[in-house]
Parts: sequence; C-alpha cells; structure tokens
Amino acid sequence: LRRLGEHDAIQCYTEQMKVDAMSRLSMESALREAIDKDQFVLVYQPKVDADRGRIVGGEALVRWHHPTEGVIGPVAFIPLLEEMGLIGHLGQWVLNQACDDLSRWRAAGVPVVPIAVNLSAIQFGRQDLLDSIRDTLDAHEVGADMIELEVTESALMRDTHATAEVLHGLHGLGLSLAVDDFGTGYSSLAYLKRFAVDTLKIDRSFVQDCDGGNHDPAIVRAIIAMARSLGMGLVAEGVETEAQARVLQAHGCPVMQGYLFARPMSEVDFRTALRDGLPGADRFRRAAE
Ligand code: C2E
Ligand code: MG
Ligand code: MG
Ligand code: MG
Repeated sequence: LRRLGEHDAIQCYTEQMKVDAMSRLSMESALREAIDKDQFVLVYQPKVDADRGRIVGGEALVRWHHPTEGVIGPVAFIPLLEEMGLIGHLGQWVLNQACDDLSRWRAAGVPVVPIAVNLSAIQFGRQDLLDSIRDTLDAHEVGADMIELEVTESALMRDTHATAEVLHGLHGLGLSLAVDDFGTGYSSLAYLKRFAVDTLKIDRSFVQDCDGGNHDPAIVRAIIAMARSLGMGLVAEGVETEAQARVLQAHGCPVMQGYLFARPMSEVDFRTALRDGLPGADRFRRAAE
C-alpha cells in the first residue's frame, strides 16, 4: 500500500481546483444561456398584516429553472452574476417581470398590492438605475407606489454619500425603499434618519428566536420601538411559528412574512391569494373592520 505523499496531496488539490474551475466555468456558461433563453422565473411571497388578516404586499424572489438541474435558488447564482457583471441584466428582467405581472393582475380585476423587488448592492450603485426603473414603470403603466425596493443594510452603508443621492432620486420618482436583513449590518441611527428609509425588515435571525429565552426578544423589541419613533414601516422576515407572530404583534409589528403564513408561490397562486385571501392569514386578526 502506497502512502499518500505530499506530491499526491498537491496533485489531488490541483485536481480539485480544476473540478471547481470547471464547474464554475460551466455554471457561468449555463448562466449566460439562462439569460438568453429566459430561464428565470419569479415567485411571490405575501406580506401579511396580522391585525387585519390581509395581504398588504408581496416580495418577488427569483428562481432559475435549469433545464437539467431543476429549480436553483438565488443564493447559488446571484453572487456569480454579480462577479460576471450580469446582475444588471437579471435586475432589469426581474423589475420588468414584476411590472408585467402587476399590470396583468390589475387588468384581470385582481386587487393588487405593492410588490417589493430586491436590488443587489451593485445595482444600487449604478448610474442608470433611476432611468431604467422609471422607463420600466412607464412602459407597463405601473405607478411608483406599486413597487418597493429592498436593499440590504450592508449595501446601503457601503457608500453613504452615494446612497443618499440614490435615495433622493428614488424618492423623487415616488418609490419607497426597505432595508432588508435589518440588524445584521452596522447602520447608524443618524443615517437611517438622514436617508429617510421607508421600511425596516427585521432579519429572520432575530425573529426566529424572539419567542425563546435569550436576548433576541429584546433586540426585536428595540428595533420595533426605534422604527416606530422614526416613523418607519416595519416587516418581520422569516416568521415560522405562532409564538413568534404573537410576540411580534404584541410589540407592535403586525406586518409579517414567513412560512407560517405562506411560502414563496407561483404567480398564479399569488394572484389567487390576492383575489381570495390567504387561508390562515386572519388567525391573528384583531381590528374590527
Ligand atoms: P431576502 O430578500 O432576505 O428574502 C428572504 C428569503 O428568505 C427568501 O429566500 C425566502 O424564500 C426566505 N424565507 C421567507 N420566509 C421564510 C421563513 O419563514 N423561513 C425561512 N427559513 N426562510 C424564509 P430566497 O428566495 O432563497 O432568496 C434569498 C435571497 O436572495 C434574498 O433574501 C435576496 O437577498 C436574494 N434575492 C432573491 N431574489 C432576488 C432578486 O431578484 N434580485 C436580487 N438582487 N436578489 C434576490
Ligand atoms: Mg428581500
Ligand atoms: Mg430579507
Ligand atoms: Mg434575511
């Protein structure tokens, strides 16, 4: 039996690197093809106002329908598209598709709600962002109040001067902005106030433990109190249990998104939910209307 020597180890390592490089290369060409052949699909996850038992918004989330690998989630390909310089293409496709869906729902007489679209940090920094958003809204005759943009906290804080300018422009168009994954980055209160951010989305990691016995209920409480005193809207992400929903509602955050209410769903299912309501959305209802 031959012992594995240093040389073999290096060889082995190099082989592994080749495999990695190949899969990356083939992933890249598959992604280019995905863009050409229109293999992306949007799913929608409802945002529910628990007090009223109603869908008050939706978030568009992209999926890649790979011809042989099946459905691939955004975490696996968005960073690669960013590195390839193609995230702008996807972002444009996503916004266009969301506006197209909105205008078709409206034409079908469905009571529509604002749809949130995620922007990557790279898109957020691009000069042509405002123009392309305005052109897309105009082309579909969708009002700026029907589209909300979600940007992660870390993307917002990357270049605060540029952020202030972009936000100014977005607000000028009538668009609103939500800070995604709030609590995981390092934003200062002064900036949040200066940026006039519209909504904070409390990161799932805080929501997930807010019915537990550790410090997280305090964090959720603090975020809720802060958003309220700054006059911002609030959404809790990743609500999975009734206990979490009750804690959030009790502390004044009725708008929730998570598997407890609904998983991201196809455009057809979301349209049905808009028309007929979401089963179980009214279980925490308390306002008499
Ligand atoms: P995000 O914007 O924070 O979206 C929330 C993610 O949490 C989604 O994952 C959603 O499916 C998942 N989620 C929702 N409720 C629950 C829950 O109760 N429990 C758990 N465990 N997860 C829940 P998804 O669709 O895989 O998206 C992941 C991330 O990819 C998004 O995080 C967003 O940052 C990014 N992303 C998605 N679509 C787009 C897009 O069109 N453009 C860009 N730039 N990024 C996108
Ligand atoms: Mg989001
Ligand atoms: Mg999020
Ligand atoms: Mg998150």
